[in-house]
Amino acid sequence: MLFDISELGPAGVSLDLRVDVPAFEWAGGQRVEARNVCLQARLAPTRRGIEAKGEYAALVRLHCSRCLEAFEQALEGHFRLFLRPEGEADAEERASERNAGESDVDLFPVVGQKVDLAALLREQIDLALPVKVLCDDDCRGLCASCGMNLNQATCRCGDAVDGRLSALAEVARKWNGNGGEEQDPPGGK
Ligand SMILES: [Zn+2]
Repeated sequence: MLFDISELGPAGVSLDLRVDVPAFEWAGGQRVEARNVCLQARLAPTRRGIEAKGEYAALVRLHCSRCLEAFEQALEGHFRLFLRPEGEADAEERASERNAGESDVDLFPVVGQKVDLAALLREQIDLALPVKVLCDDDCRGLCASCGMNLNQATCRCGDAVDGRLSALAEVARKWNGNGGEEQDPPGGK
């Protein structure tokens, strides 16, 4: 969805839109699908360029990094960006490199006079995604032996491990503690 900034009057404009954001590739090759992407923003000319300030909400479909299942997560956030036509953005970037105080100002490049709102929102969604994608903080993941999703069912692999461990614990107990009572030490008292 494109917004033509050449039509922007001095008073600015308020946007309240639902924007179609195409699925995109994210870090690690994960494909992110976003739906119900809503944008509420105010665009207004300022001395530093066109300021775009607002908030968004989206429902994103991700894959859990632990159990690999797809799930949906609600995302929302605020942003404040300055829209700069492509040529000016380069000059501004060079200027902001010289001026450390400007480095916290986010610039969003604009090709020609059109702002790609879907690209703007994709960038915001990208930034808001968690570093480690989990369907749930307590996701139990997949069994390393049989591959079963442990959120959905319990496999028998864990029992086998527990069985071996308790057998070992039994041996250790006889060896260390109780063993002394069952067998007289050599030589007696
Ligand atoms: Zn999971």
